[in-house]
Amino acid sequence: MATTSAAENIPSSKIPRLRNFIGGEWDSSTASNELPVHDPGTGALLGRVPLSSTSDANAAVDAASAAYPGWRATPIVERARVLFRLKHLLEEHLEEIAVMVTREHGKTLPDARGEVRRGIENVEHACGIPSLMMGQTLEDIATGIDCETVRQPLGVFAAFTPYNFPVMVPMWFWPYAIATGNTFVLKPSEQDPIAHQRVIELAVEAGLPPGVLNVVHGDRTAVEAIIDHPEIKGVSFVGSSTVAKAVYARAGKRGIRVQALGGAKNHMVVLPDADFDVVTDGLLGSLFHGAGQRCLAGSIVVGVDSAYEPLRERLVDGAGSMKIGYGLDDDVEMGPLVSAPHRNRVAGFIDEGTQDGAELLLDGRGTTVEGYPDGHWLGPTIFGSVSPEMSIGREEIFGPVASLTQCESLDAAVELMHRNSYGNATSIFTRSGGAAREFRYAAGISMIGVNIGVAAPMAFFPFGGSRGSFYGDLKAQGQDAIDFYTDKRVVITRW
Ligand code: NAD
Repeated sequence: MATTSAAENIPSSKIPRLRNFIGGEWDSSTASNELPVHDPGTGALLGRVPLSSTSDANAAVDAASAAYPGWRATPIVERARVLFRLKHLLEEHLEEIAVMVTREHGKTLPDARGEVRRGIENVEHACGIPSLMMGQTLEDIATGIDCETVRQPLGVFAAFTPYNFPVMVPMWFWPYAIATGNTFVLKPSEQDPIAHQRVIELAVEAGLPPGVLNVVHGDRTAVEAIIDHPEIKGVSFVGSSTVAKAVYARAGKRGIRVQALGGAKNHMVVLPDADFDVVTDGLLGSLFHGAGQRCLAGSIVVGVDSAYEPLRERLVDGAGSMKIGYGLDDDVEMGPLVSAPHRNRVAGFIDEGTQDGAELLLDGRGTTVEGYPDGHWLGPTIFGSVSPEMSIGREEIFGPVASLTQCESLDAAVELMHRNSYGNATSIFTRSGGAAREFRYAAGISMIGVNIGVAAPMAFFPFGGSRGSFYGDLKAQGQDAIDFYTDKRVVITRW
């Protein structure tokens, strides 16, 4: 692929402004404010995203509300058929969408393909809605009296999604919401909203009626307007914990359904009996792929007892030889960070770790990539001797920075995890079934890997954390999604 730079000299007025999608029309936002969307590897301007006003957001909810009665009454097999057609269209366009993800997010093309695949799997799962949405019946709960539950949709739902999986995360929500007969408003990340716009176009091509799925671009203003709209029956949020908590509180105040998935600080625990080839492979991917911008990425690596030294040596060797570069180029293992401010924030954590006395074993701050002078590069970074009091041992960094620490036992490793406020994912590496069982029992974390670096639940399982990583009860995906988007109504009958 030819190199490009920010100096493409295309006037920004010639770069298309994204449009909201409201009531089946590509609508121009009334917002005067907008943000640029840049390719984080080249710096090229890819698009301009409007920061929609409260009235734009209200218009989207109104359109979804108007479409609800007709969509709810559409036979469930017809709703499923739209999703079947969408699944086929997504398969046909998988490569095109993956390239768009790489360009606006920066992740490597294989990672982007994986993301689109995971998104498609949610559409596949939602295609089974006639079975997933069935209720239950029971005869003779009293003499001559029967009882049944019927699952019914509720109305308009919405989701507010993060930049790190711009195609997949929105698809944790809206395929299930519309399959169950609700209508929907999506507020995607303002940092990389272009690839998902293509998915929406394909949903329209698949036959989704006007108003069933609406998109409003923007930031906090649009999010708050949507939560506050009286027709909104429930919201899903994925992003940082501070905002997750605020969204949960605001929606809770209105008494509507809410699930808010937040940040993470995932501990990877390695026992001395582990297979160190499996450990090295699993951890390098977990810590550094996606440049560490994944809510399931490893952040703290805990070497139990004698596991620490070989772990430290292998990770520093492996990370030091990873190929950093532009995500569309061949053999690249790690791309840039999403933006200059985020790169500087991650570099700031590295500065703090050094000041706090952690041992800097590998420093990615000086990384450059030939031919890409404007990319937001920061190479794999590894600290040793990290303690939980240090900011790098405590806070979510969301970049390619690994913190190594040593514990004397599995119990001490679990105790260390419990001191952290997050509870998204964790992994253990061991050959002992007993140790793995003990870990699963005591970890108190929601997504657990055993000899797996990234414990990502597939579409038919629930996705979400606990403690400071999740506010709510029903999670994304799986049967939880059906429960979130339907009310179980009980009918008791005597003839
Ligand atoms: P973010 O919190 O900055 O933004 C997420 C969404 O919230 C965006 O749509 C944004 O426009 C909106 N938003 C931002 N500030 C807001 C405010 N004050 N009020 C209302 N809405 C607001 O998150 P991000 O930087 O886009 O994504 C990275 C974060 O997402 C990380 O913390 C990561 O761990 C988390 N994440 C979590 C999961 C999970 O499954 N738990 C999955 C992916 C990402």
